[in-house]
Amino acid sequence: MAISPTPTVLVSEVGPRDGLQSIKSVMPTAAKLRWISALAAAGLKEIEVGSFVPARLLPQMADIHEVVAHALTIPGLHVAVLAPNLRGSQSAFEAGVHKLTLPVSVTNEHSMANIRKTTAQMIDEVREIVALRDAQFPGVQIEAGVSVAFGCTIAGAVSDDETMRMCMAMAECGVDEVGLSDTSGYANPTQVRRMFRRLRSELGDKAGGAHFHNTRGQGLANVVAALEAGVTTIDASQAGLGGCPYAPGATGNIVTEDLAFLLEAMGYDTGIDIDALVAARAILADALPGEALYGHVQDAGLPKGFSYADGRAPSAVQPEGCLRGVAQ
Ligand code: ZN
Repeated sequence: MAISPTPTVLVSEVGPRDGLQSIKSVMPTAAKLRWISALAAAGLKEIEVGSFVPARLLPQMADIHEVVAHALTIPGLHVAVLAPNLRGSQSAFEAGVHKLTLPVSVTNEHSMANIRKTTAQMIDEVREIVALRDAQFPGVQIEAGVSVAFGCTIAGAVSDDETMRMCMAMAECGVDEVGLSDTSGYANPTQVRRMFRRLRSELGDKAGGAHFHNTRGQGLANVVAALEAGVTTIDASQAGLGGCPYAPGATGNIVTEDLAFLLEAMGYDTGIDIDALVAARAILADALPGEALYGHVQDAGLPKGFSYADGRAPSAVQPEGCLRGVAQ
């Protein structure tokens, strides 16, 4: 009888990009490099290390060239970045990144607010970026990250058809993958399952990963729905770093540590050492005093008797359980 292999999920860490761009503090470069190294050493195979945007717009990303150069020295790490236009993409290609994510909004309203282009202008820009890649940088993977795919903070409700129209347009531009982003934290699991099933049936092997924000606490529920629809790449940020500097209390991406625990406990191999990942939070706590760090696994530890999907035992001694009061 054939033994089915353990399913694997790629956890794509976006904290150094989505997390750091969304907070007021600027993380010192040396700490950023240490953090990225620690994340990779904890078993994360893909890290979105920053974005190629003008430093006057996002001072948090002013050191992107140095950060990419460092990340490229880490053996086996898939180095991803985000760029919102042709100019940024050219710089990213020249820097030698492995993967480029292009943020493409479903709604004109979000597109104008985010990148000052209409959706039609952005489709043209993506076509030019793919042409540049094909002509001069053929090895680089391009993903379209379709933003506000489940609802928009400016335009409100977004229909499935609107989102799928943009996904099809991206596939026609020649990107390698089209992922769905719940930029606004509006998605629910029913919607997520339906949309990713449709994405896979309409785009086939160009159907990409899931990017969820935990704004309304639905992030991990949405992950389970995405897994049920066959998604194998999921974005997350360490400590759920992020949120919005203009919306106090708004949380960021789903928490990588909690996501890794969910996946491993459900039998999906991620290759991550959760204890090592939790230990990397100390770098953030030191470098970003006053910024909110989220998550649960770091406080509770791994359950007694826990083993990873591939059969590994936890690397660190787990703390004692709650000894005070009466547990229920
Ligand atoms: Zn995001």
